[in-house]
Amino acid sequence: MTIMRDAVADLRAVLTGPDSVLTDPDLLRAASHDEADLCPAGVPLAVVRPRDTAEVAAVMRTAAAHGLPVVPQGARTGLTGGANAVDGAVVVSLTRLKGIRVDAARSLAVVGAGVVNADLTRAVAREGLDYPPDPGSWESSTIGGNVATNAGGMCCVKYGVTGRYVAGLTVVLADGAVLRCGGQGPERTAGYDLTALFTGSEGTLGVITEVVLRLRPARRPDRTLAAVFPTVAAACRAVARITAAGEAPSLLELLDRTHLRAVEDYRPSGLDTDAGALLLAASDAGPAARAALDAMAAHCERAGASELHVATDQVEADALLAARRLAHPAMEHLAARRFPGGRGGLVVDDVAVPRDRIVELVEGVARIAQRHDVLVGVVGHAGAGNLHPVIVVDRSDPDVLARGRQVFDAIMRLGLELGGSCTGEHGVGLLKRDWLGQELGPVGVRVHQAVKRALDPAGILNPGKVVLPAHDGS
Ligand SMILES: Cc1cc2nc3c(=O)[nH]c(=O)nc-3n(C[C@H](O)[C@H](O)[C@H](O)COP(=O)(O)OP(=O)(O)OC[C@H]3O[C@@H](n4cnc5c(N)ncnc54)[C@H](O)[C@@H]3O)c2cc1C
Repeated sequence: MTIMRDAVADLRAVLTGPDSVLTDPDLLRAASHDEADLCPAGVPLAVVRPRDTAEVAAVMRTAAAHGLPVVPQGARTGLTGGANAVDGAVVVSLTRLKGIRVDAARSLAVVGAGVVNADLTRAVAREGLDYPPDPGSWESSTIGGNVATNAGGMCCVKYGVTGRYVAGLTVVLADGAVLRCGGQGPERTAGYDLTALFTGSEGTLGVITEVVLRLRPARRPDRTLAAVFPTVAAACRAVARITAAGEAPSLLELLDRTHLRAVEDYRPSGLDTDAGALLLAASDAGPAARAALDAMAAHCERAGASELHVATDQVEADALLAARRLAHPAMEHLAARRFPGGRGGLVVDDVAVPRDRIVELVEGVARIAQRHDVLVGVVGHAGAGNLHPVIVVDRSDPDVLARGRQVFDAIMRLGLELGGSCTGEHGVGLLKRDWLGQELGPVGVRVHQAVKRALDPAGILNPGKVVLPAHDGS
């Protein structure tokens, strides 16, 4: 106990300003987990809130000296338990690292890890530039969290996930040393690609404090199409046709009937709640956008769309996208109504398959849900082959929870059998650690373990996430 008090005192000694080391039990509990259900979370020793890289390095040195685990956190919007604390951990909240410097001449921005995605997007838009990755959580999730999970979003079907935009990183390593990799100059090709290594490493290899991001010229406005389908499979057939034909939608999003009903119940906007699915497609190809939408509409019609509607203006297009953005809160609302008293929960799956196999994925998900008698809605970035089967569970009912877990695992298995991945964007965290092992195979796991051991020999960085050390028997 004295040792722990000494550790807290040492943390206080290296951090400046008020509220930099929090130990209030209520705050510790609140900071102990992200948005994922079914993931264990321990009680941290303290939450620390450093202001810059030097303070993060001092925290890391202090934690290393005391042998304490360190869990980096952004906004805790993660959906895999990746930001969950372990008992006695030092939780490092990066939210005070807020700087944004835009270098318009080089189309780059140097951004603190705690900057919220939407704040960056707005800041670069003022300079006539664009930062494409737009996770549904963009109004709250941080750039550090986005890089650490290699986050995706709606426009990633055309513009790619976060990693494509990371030109350089400042990372505090497990011993407190500060690594700068990549950078603002010419594209770096010398040596190992450390920038790529830390991107998507989920806080297990180092704490990201600053990111150099590539920017693009401002995008032209989207033209948006809404296509209504009698079944989810028909909507997915349209997706497969659109992508096989080489169309380049700037967005191709799917909501199934469960989601349409949940969104309409949560925030009524006239969605067709009898439809099997809604597909939203957009093009930002400027003068060619009209022809691109016509081509996508034709593919939808051939796949069995019962209704097609092109948004007449940006207000209407934004309203359609708002329905998609409301999918997660609307499903939380549905779960809360179905299982009142705080019992309702969601397990959000995140599976990516080759785009010509998403029909098999959604048909398989429906079969699995029926077999286990569990409600599963499907939503996602269909154009990227990345879908989120969302499993509705009663947290208080061990039988429903067990069936929810079986459904989750069966969907993961199906995704891998279809040649896919256990994550399209949310990362691995705790929720999919076993499935990452299946996906990588023994050699891939061994290389992951070797990298982890090399960078974090004492195993103090975000322990238990992504991959277990070799001596833990996996
Ligand atoms: C409503 C909703 C919609 C979402 N939509 C999407 C979506 O469209 N696409 C998508 O990809 N995700 C989505 N997510 C998931 C989540 O928002 C992303 O994973 C996001 O990137 C997490 O950012 P964060 O700041 O909240 O990080 P956290 O949840 O705090 O942390 C996530 C992981 O990154 C690590 N980490 C955080 N910051 C750092 C750092 N500075 N250095 C090292 N490691 C760090 C943590 O340890 C943890 O492993 C959604 C979540 C919600 C709740």
